[in-house]
Amino acid sequence: MSKVLIIGAGGVSNVVVRKCAQNSGVYSEILLASRTQSKCEAIAKDIKNIPVHTASVNADKAADVSALIRDFKPELVINVALPYQDLAIMDACLAEGVNYLDSANYEPKDKAHFEYSWQWAYHDRFKKAGIMALLGSGFDPGVSNVYVAYAKKHYFDRMDTLDIVDCNAGNHGKAFATNFNPEINIREVSQRVRYYKDGVIQESAPIIEEGSVHKPVNYPQVGDRESYLLYHEELESLVKHYPELRQARFWMTFGEAYLTHLRALQDIGMTRIDPVEFKGQKIIPLEFLKAVLPEPATLGANYTGKTCIGCQITGEKDGKPQIYFVYNVCDHAECYKEVKAQAVSYTTGVPIMVGGAMLLTHTWKGEGVFNMEEFDPDPFMEQVAKWGLPWHEMFGKQLV
Ligand code: NDP
Repeated sequence: MSKVLIIGAGGVSNVVVRKCAQNSGVYSEILLASRTQSKCEAIAKDIKNIPVHTASVNADKAADVSALIRDFKPELVINVALPYQDLAIMDACLAEGVNYLDSANYEPKDKAHFEYSWQWAYHDRFKKAGIMALLGSGFDPGVSNVYVAYAKKHYFDRMDTLDIVDCNAGNHGKAFATNFNPEINIREVSQRVRYYKDGVIQESAPIIEEGSVHKPVNYPQVGDRESYLLYHEELESLVKHYPELRQARFWMTFGEAYLTHLRALQDIGMTRIDPVEFKGQKIIPLEFLKAVLPEPATLGANYTGKTCIGCQITGEKDGKPQIYFVYNVCDHAECYKEVKAQAVSYTTGVPIMVGGAMLLTHTWKGEGVFNMEEFDPDPFMEQVAKWGLPWHEMFGKQLV
């Protein structure tokens, strides 16, 4: 039975808190802290079976997070604020000797670039302090990493190629909205695309520019959806931990309406992250855009359709070529019925709760900083299915 501090009170946090409360054999008490305390209170008021306290915190300040930790004495801090806060929250965990978990790797505010080096650099200090950091415990990164570990453990002597495919075939009824934090989402999808081939990082055009790489992929239970090559952070840790992979790529579906809006927003400068002068003060256009777009937590009510996210791996087993696809399908409306959230928040929140449970029950043990694929995938696979994200397998069929 463990106390946890959860930081952030957006779409993903709402699912994490509800799922932790469902798993009350592991999670006994929560302190939910975020920049806007009223958002914490709105989530906490629905939880009746375990105590959920609320607080306001600016998680950019390690000392403020430290103070909360000292007061509440949690065993684990779950970071579901934004990637900008990762290092400050890790600093606080180090200072107070508490375990850490997140679902997105650090990126600096002034540069739309994310990589693990900043967080991996904490490994020795976490090890010395005898605490554990579990990085990227959402769906992708997160479940996608565990799918690869599971494939390697059970079905491959050697993995050659990895294609992670992420399809959202849902409809939220808005002209333009993003399924997770708009600022982070738009920074991610506007980047030049990177993927790995023969040990070298290859680049291609961003999804909204000429030269972007895309093709239809036939998703189980969903059908054909145009899928775009995109850079995603789990590629970096997976090629590090499975150097046998000759190629590792990530694909995501985007609708024409989303791409057209994004192109227009980019063309008129609304996705810029440098400060511009406005009525005597500096504003960042993307931060302003975020303020006028729908919040991800508000999209759930009328969302219909499904998500399908999985990993296709090719390679060899017992001297024979092998093609394997492992995936989850999730229904937006079903998620809303269960936890008042759309499927993107749900598919992120469930594995955060399960990753935390792996750590708190010492099913996954370690001192230092770890990615999800570094542990035995079997108990996680069992638990993630039990808590709402069942997975399925296909053999011998090439999707990508
Ligand atoms: P939201 O924008 O809905 O929520 C973010 C929350 O963080 C808000 O409550 C916000 O407060 C709070 N916050 C922001 N800055 C601070 C700060 N300095 N101090 C304290 N609180 C702060 O985002 P989501 O819930 O959609 O996403 C949460 C995280 O999950 C993101 O890091 C995202 O990248 C990650 N994610 C991971 C996925 C995966 O599969 N691995 C998939 C989807 C998301 P306020 O409301 O006051 O702004």
